[in-house]
Amino acid sequence: MTSPAAIDTVEPLRPRVRLLGPAYSARAFEIRDFLSRSVVTYDWVELDEAAARRIPGIRGLDDPGLPVCEFPDGSRLLNPSIADVARRLGWVEKPRKKVYDVSIYGAGPAGLSAAVYAASEGLSTVLVERDAVGGQAGNSSLIENYLGFPQGISGAELAERARQQAVRFGTEILRLREGVYAVFADGGIQADLADGTQLYARTNICATGIEWRRLGLPDEGRLQGLGLFYGAGTSEAPMCSGETVYVVGGGNSAGQAAMHLSAYAREVVMLVRGPRLADTLSDYMVQKLQSQPNIRVVTNCEVSALHGDRFLEAITVRDRADGTESALATHHLFVCIGGLPNTEWARDTAIARDGSGYVVTGADLSPAALAAAGWPLPRAPYPLETSVPGSFAVGDVRHSSMKRVASAVGEGAMAVAFIHQHLATL
Ligand SMILES: Cc1cc2nc3c(=O)[nH]c(=O)nc-3n(C[C@H](O)[C@H](O)[C@H](O)COP(=O)(O)OP(=O)(O)OC[C@H]3O[C@@H](n4cnc5c(N)ncnc54)[C@H](O)[C@@H]3O)c2cc1C
Repeated sequence: MTSPAAIDTVEPLRPRVRLLGPAYSARAFEIRDFLSRSVVTYDWVELDEAAARRIPGIRGLDDPGLPVCEFPDGSRLLNPSIADVARRLGWVEKPRKKVYDVSIYGAGPAGLSAAVYAASEGLSTVLVERDAVGGQAGNSSLIENYLGFPQGISGAELAERARQQAVRFGTEILRLREGVYAVFADGGIQADLADGTQLYARTNICATGIEWRRLGLPDEGRLQGLGLFYGAGTSEAPMCSGETVYVVGGGNSAGQAAMHLSAYAREVVMLVRGPRLADTLSDYMVQKLQSQPNIRVVTNCEVSALHGDRFLEAITVRDRADGTESALATHHLFVCIGGLPNTEWARDTAIARDGSGYVVTGADLSPAALAAAGWPLPRAPYPLETSVPGSFAVGDVRHSSMKRVASAVGEGAMAVAFIHQHLATL
């Protein structure tokens, strides 16, 4: 299987990876997912017992060395972590500067856009991403409403184009690094990264987005990647051939997941909590789903249990009207039920958050919130500025944001304009 088609790169196409492992391997899923969101071409080889034994150093399908990752130079990694693979691809780097003009946390559409504008306008820019570049958009099989792409574009491809653009303008990207704690002092920010690195910048932009909400069921963690997936499962769709698969959720991301999976699965069943799809979904998506013969929508229901020993074998679905439960056999469940903001890094700081954890910015900051945060300036916060001067928040992580690629990209660009204004006063 091969990940998305090559694009007009400004860098040579990155190396091809060959991944060999058993059918149900959570680690193999993690690596496939990471590679496909990073637009790295790869081959996935599903092993049976005999094929596993033919691999040098591997004794069989249960060998702890699986999956095996092979690189073009002939080197191999046994049961590697994502960080091991990224390191081998040359992606884990150290910060080159002592102080940056702007540090951006999160390389989804908002952070990538901010990086392109900041670097292209002469600011020394570092972009820190804890996972694959692209954020949630990297999960999107086809973004159809982003300006300039009349046939749509895969989120991973859009992100890869943006990454190359940001790098071309001089952005330094630190991948697989997570901002875990921030201190705002002396007109700048010092951030601690999870690996102990410290970053200093005169301004910062938080673009840390949201992460998938869990179902909250027993066995959820154990079955993740073993039949249970969060998001559209872009890399997993080809594995659903001939099966009945389930998508939980009634929003646009669930609709998009169902459409993508319907090209591979025999049947896709959407499990929706509410009474009507139209309440939660764009009109164009409702029409697309209705015209796809192998998609079925079940409303007023919820998943109440997951079953399976080594991998997902069945789910229990409860009818919310009468409480009856049915057990349904399946090996694939895709959960797309919205998200929670990634703002743990802001604990113990003066950054104001709303009751759900979203970062409050600009005119949404009440005088009381500003007073509580100790806002020190005579001017009011700029649009997108948090309760700490020079610290901005953009995209989905922001209180009252639009949750769209276009608005995240627009906010990333806007924040840079206000950063110039802020820097001019220092
Ligand atoms: C399946 C799916 C389909 C979608 N389809 C569409 C569509 O068709 N059209 C549309 O307009 N929108 C769509 N969306 C919504 C759109 O993708 C989001 O609105 C957009 O990605 C938000 O961008 P963002 O940059 O604000 O945040 P995110 O995309 O959430 O990116 C945040 C990034 O920050 C990183 N991060 C988090 N915490 C830290 C930390 N502490 N340190 C470093 N990095 C961190 C995360 O790993 C992530 O990469 C879809 C979303 C999904 C999930």
